[in-house]
Amino acid sequence: VADLGKVYKIRKGNFSSEDFHAVSDATFTVNKGETLALVGESGSGKSTIAKMVLQLEKPTSGSIRIAGKETAGLSGKGLFDLRRTLQPVFQDPYGSLDPLTNIGNTIMEPLKIHGVGDAASRKARVLELLDQVALPRELASRYPNELSGGQRQRVAVARGLALKPDILILDEAVSALDVLVQAQILDLLAELQRELGLTYLFITHDLAVVRLIADRVCVMQKGRIVEQATTEEVFERPQQEYTKNLLAAIP
Ligand code: ATP
Ligand code: MG
Repeated sequence: VADLGKVYKIRKGNFSSEDFHAVSDATFTVNKGETLALVGESGSGKSTIAKMVLQLEKPTSGSIRIAGKETAGLSGKGLFDLRRTLQPVFQDPYGSLDPLTNIGNTIMEPLKIHGVGDAASRKARVLELLDQVALPRELASRYPNELSGGQRQRVAVARGLALKPDILILDEAVSALDVLVQAQILDLLAELQRELGLTYLFITHDLAVVRLIADRVCVMQKGRIVEQATTEEVFERPQQEYTKNLLAAIP
């Protein structure tokens, strides 16, 4: 689905004459219907990849192809249309949900932006989405601060699914939750994937989570993918010292 090529530079501004490479040499493919985990320590470039795939950050070189189509230089309508197939779910929805917008309108927002359906059908879709993420329909009129962290994350998933995307880019989507709630959200994501045929780019620093959800793993170190294999291979036969150290850090 996505295939990222060579070098991505981020300018450091006036503080240095040297360009800083947040991501370099990160070539990988996510296959339809699978969960590919991107792991690596803080600052290794995981979120930068997410932002480039989502077109929130432009790569200075390389390519990103989605369903065979080059997307790295998209703008205007092309970019707008891409948003329908590709949706983000980020960490800590307490920060990413608008506190002044109720849950129903939060979930409905992408439908409004993309002009999907009339008011009545959008309302019906919101209720369907609440069902899909196993939240009670009454929550539509509540506000983010009245929900638990796990419930807010379900809202973020519902909003991500509103436009019926093919791909979710999940960046630390369960990292702010306690282990029990994490497991519930991971179960929900797995179920939605089976039901809807979704493809996940699943970004996390937490290898325990990777083991629960990923089919394959890319290990990132300092902007590079240093190891790439099935989840089982990475856990049973890690090739790099760096990966072994990451695995040793799992409690
Ligand atoms: P974490 O696990 O902490 O979320 P990460 O792997 O997601 O880390 P990134 O957010 O991709 O890491 O950042 C990679 C590197 O690029 C970091 O050193 C970061 O400081 C730097 N960086 C990211 N965005 C920018 C930017 N817009 N300008 C300058 N440097 C940036
Ligand atoms: Mg990050």
